[in-house]
Amino acid sequence: MWNWQEMWPRLKAKFERQPAAQRENNSRQFIPVEWYENRANTIAGEHYKKEIREYQVTETFVKVVIRIYFGDTFRDGYGFCEIDNLGTANAVDRAFAEAHRNGFDSYEMGWEDLRIYEKKGIRDKPAEEVFCVKCSKPLDAEDIEAMKKYPRLVVPYHVGTCAPPHLLK
Ligand SMILES: [Zn+2]
Repeated sequence: MWNWQEMWPRLKAKFERQPAAQRENNSRQFIPVEWYENRANTIAGEHYKKEIREYQVTETFVKVVIRIYFGDTFRDGYGFCEIDNLGTANAVDRAFAEAHRNGFDSYEMGWEDLRIYEKKGIRDKPAEEVFCVKCSKPLDAEDIEAMKKYPRLVVPYHVGTCAPPHLLK
């Protein structure tokens, strides 16, 4: 029997290892998708399911929407990646990874871990050194201000365009 009240705290509990800093500029911290999936499988087992809701590849960008289920609860994670000189396959990989990450993020998974970086001052960095997790472009000063205002906004987004509305509460 799937008990959401019991399982959710276990899903979003702190990971045992610290998330690695994976970006060359060191300003964008995230948790590897494998960790989320491992956590989901371990805690939820057969109650964890995912489904590709949208997969669009154009000449210039890749867009992916992954729906993540725990029991009968679901959230959609969006991934968007412009095709750059790394090529289409690379953009597909990145868009899928981002869609997964955003999907798990909407269950607050990893928040405990990402707060480590928040404390280390992502909110105090100059906006141009912080990159939106949706579109990968640098933030504006107003986005950084918004991160101070909305506690749920733990990873950087452009507030007016890219941030999921449920985080702006
Ligand atoms: Zn953005």
